[in-house]
Amino acid sequence: MAETEFNWHDDGHVIHVRLEKDSVSVVSGLCPYGGRKDTPCYHEGINGCVVNYVVSMYGIDVNVGVADAAGTMPISWSYGGNSWEIDSATCWIIPNNDPNFATWAENERLSNQEKSNG
Ligand SMILES: [Zn+2]
Repeated sequence: MAETEFNWHDDGHVIHVRLEKDSVSVVSGLCPYGGRKDTPCYHEGINGCVVNYVVSMYGIDVNVGVADAAGTMPISWSYGGNSWEIDSATCWIIPNNDPNFATWAENERLSNQEKSNG
């Protein structure tokens, strides 16, 4: 994983994955906003949810984490790039229960709490 500063959104996106022999495929993605405009995942270029788009295009290839690859996975996602040209965009997903990500997310939560308390 590159040392890029990602802004992860943990906002209720879920993907359904299926394990077939030794390959994993994404069956579908669920957007908590239903692809509405004025949401963090809305992309003008595709007129819909960028997370659903990339998982249906690239499947598990856009996953940067580790998780049991079966069933329903709550994910967080990160997007960088142009909000009009989907081809120049970079989007990654990570399972919320990825061990490294879970640790990171907890630290983020704590440091955000400290900020709001201070
Ligand atoms: Zn979405």
